[in-house]
Amino acid sequence: MMVVEMTESSSRRDLDRVCESLARGGRSFRITPGRGRSFVMSSDIARREDSSDYRALPGVRSVNVTTCCHPLASREIGGEARPMELVPGLRIGDGEPLVMAGPCAVENREQLMTTAIGVGRAGAHVLRGGAFKPRSHPYAFQGLGSEGIALLKEARASSGLPVVTEVMSPEEAEWVAPHIDILQVGARNMQNFALLRTLGGIDRPVLLKRGMCATVEEWLQAAEYILAGGNERVILCERGIRSFDKNTRNTLDLSVIPLLKSMTHLPVVVDPSHATGRRDLVAPMSLAALAAGADGLVVEVHCAPEEALCDGPQSLTLDDFAHLMTRASKVLRALREEEPSWRMPIAR
Ligand code: PEP
Ligand code: MN
Repeated sequence: MMVVEMTESSSRRDLDRVCESLARGGRSFRITPGRGRSFVMSSDIARREDSSDYRALPGVRSVNVTTCCHPLASREIGGEARPMELVPGLRIGDGEPLVMAGPCAVENREQLMTTAIGVGRAGAHVLRGGAFKPRSHPYAFQGLGSEGIALLKEARASSGLPVVTEVMSPEEAEWVAPHIDILQVGARNMQNFALLRTLGGIDRPVLLKRGMCATVEEWLQAAEYILAGGNERVILCERGIRSFDKNTRNTLDLSVIPLLKSMTHLPVVVDPSHATGRRDLVAPMSLAALAAGADGLVVEVHCAPEEALCDGPQSLTLDDFAHLMTRASKVLRALREEEPSWRMPIAR
């Protein structure tokens, strides 16, 4: 395909001229609005020599011919990794890992407030909590819905933490967006293309979880749907993939952290809770994810996990979480030390 990138100062007339020229050449294309710059994508087979015709047009910054199936999400076209502002003053991808923590589901005011204050004190940067829950069992607790969104707003006010919550349909996304700081697409909806398209037009960062059986290309193409709509703020979240061993809920694919860093500029976070399904494995996998270069973590924490309506066995207590944060800072400090500190070999 051919990707024409327009400069920030290009005019509507410049864009029209590129489109007219593509149309004259019999090419189909679509315009991707960006903040400042826009792209014209033509998926017809393009030859490198064609690109020079477009490069000469006014307002064109670059023309690339690529076989990549997720060009805007790629480093080739999308550029280098860069910090992404989630809410004013809070960035991801700036070298300081960002931690999102909170219960699987918003259950009631007391549960949410206690957990929010607790995770905030321990150093979390964002409060998570599902109001609309994608449950496999149709009769399981489905979340508090709009009441859960109202409680998340209250928890944001009392803890000072921005909030992330899952949306499952285009209508939910439109309705929830004005109230919530970050919108989550769950594993089960990674290829809900109508939802992804809607999120492309919403001015909120999107936490895009990897589908249960999704390849890295499918995941990046899901991100591309959002980017193609003009929403540049997509965070990729590895949450484990389906595998054969039932000792863990899923298999955490830690190798995607360095892999994605070489493929995309988008930040990558890890959810060790859904990846393992076991509280005892959450801390070791969190530390491993940070050591592998993750830009952040998403951790389920509950003030009383044994009473949780959803995902109690994988939820950390507030004390567990505080302990994890202390150990995580030690790992981060060690990773920043320039001199390696291997133990001394045994003198013989
Ligand atoms: C969640 O984060 O609450 C959740 C349902 O996760 P996933 O979509 O990764 O299963
Ligand atoms: Mn959960």
